[in-house]
Amino acid sequence: MTDLPYRVAPEISPFPSGSAALSDDSIEALEQADKRHLWKPFTQMAGYIAGRPLVIQDACGNWLRDVQGRPYLDGVSSLWVNLHGHNHPRIVAALKEQLDRLDHATLLGPTNVPATMLAARLVQIAPGDLTRVFYSDSGSTAVEIAVKMAYQYFAQHRDPAERARNVFVSMTNGYHGDTLGSVSVGGIDLFHQVYAPLLFETLKAPAPDPYHVAFGQSVDEHEDACLTELARRLDAHAGRVAALVMEPLMQGAAGMLAHSPRYLAAAAKLARDAGALLILDEVATGFGRTGTMFACEQAGVEPDLLCLAKGISGGVLPLAATLATEEIHDGFLGEHNEYRTFFHGHSYTGNPLACTAGLASLAVFREEDVLARVQDRIAQLAARLETLAEHRHVGDIRRHGLMTGIEVVRDRSTGAPFDASLRVGARVVERALDHGVLIRPLGDVVVLMPPLSITPDELDLLTGVVLHCIDEVTAELAS
Ligand code: PMP
Repeated sequence: MTDLPYRVAPEISPFPSGSAALSDDSIEALEQADKRHLWKPFTQMAGYIAGRPLVIQDACGNWLRDVQGRPYLDGVSSLWVNLHGHNHPRIVAALKEQLDRLDHATLLGPTNVPATMLAARLVQIAPGDLTRVFYSDSGSTAVEIAVKMAYQYFAQHRDPAERARNVFVSMTNGYHGDTLGSVSVGGIDLFHQVYAPLLFETLKAPAPDPYHVAFGQSVDEHEDACLTELARRLDAHAGRVAALVMEPLMQGAAGMLAHSPRYLAAAAKLARDAGALLILDEVATGFGRTGTMFACEQAGVEPDLLCLAKGISGGVLPLAATLATEEIHDGFLGEHNEYRTFFHGHSYTGNPLACTAGLASLAVFREEDVLARVQDRIAQLAARLETLAEHRHVGDIRRHGLMTGIEVVRDRSTGAPFDASLRVGARVVERALDHGVLIRPLGDVVVLMPPLSITPDELDLLTGVVLHCIDEVTAELAS
């Protein structure tokens, strides 16, 4: 059993000392309101209502604090969104100023200052020839929009032969959000099977997953086999594929399934050679999570459509963007009565506050040299994970940058999982909460995705607590 720096969380959290607990009556009222009136995402409410909710009241740096005044290290960046810590002074100041100036104005007709400026900044930092920014509010809509753009682009293509391209190829185990278009290109049956009759059909290519699919085989061989399957599907539908949709380097929600830049480059080339567009979903991997601004940079791949959300606003306000090439944008130009317009938009498209947060976040990247500084944290994380890799209940550790999945298994030598009903991942996460670390599992994969601003001490706490909790939980189950 490893030593845990028990209860170091309150000592190293940046909250000022002194009690921050709400009164017992207020806590009781909040908990009752939560249980009676909230319907929580991805949550079996029967179990939730039977338990006690964790009610967050404030944040400081990389920490959150509950209504009892207990601090928690935000080990998954508030579901993969936060980049520079909570309430970053640069972003807060920019938002306060913007709020006095303009809260919201529609982007249908007029344009607004922050939306325009952020679009110009995004195309500067984006890979390749992406020149156009279409805003929306979530990762799901960013993908939904990319799919609709690709579809319409070909449906009204000036070359009639290209109009036959109406098929999408996407990856097994891919996750692109919960709207029906993004679900259609997704591949996680557990979440989406019930909606099958509502979805459009897509071709699924096997995504690399050497740990589960080809246990003991070399990663290169497995990835090559996946590429062969992808090529087969593209060949079988030659001239009909509109786009290949994928999450570059890391399939996040599938359980942090990683592939190599080599695979990504080869898959992109296959799509291009087949005349299809490449839609990259960097909703999770974008904005430094994998160690570069965008994951596709590591493979030298340039998408035709790039989906961004989560970290785009620094994790502060809902914002998403679908970036497109000028060529795709041109395909929508014409006279009004040609109806080539992209008929899509949301009430809050290009919200000035969210775009201001995005601009301030990009300023933080520059001013604090975030991408250079995070390299030390990535090296520190890699070193800490090496200790964990030897653990007899850790089957696999998959990581790109700070994006990490630790797969907890019953038997490391065979890769045999624990019985799903034991909910090992959930137990580890519940235990970590007792030590002041907030994380969230994907099945039995313990996910770590700290803010890029995590400090060395905080990263040691995060990895120390996770190792301790995996140790403790698996030892209890074994006995
Ligand atoms: N794409 C990817 C790769 C994601 O990881 C997610 C969310 N985890 C989404 C899309 C959907 O984003 P949102 O939850 O903001 O709709």
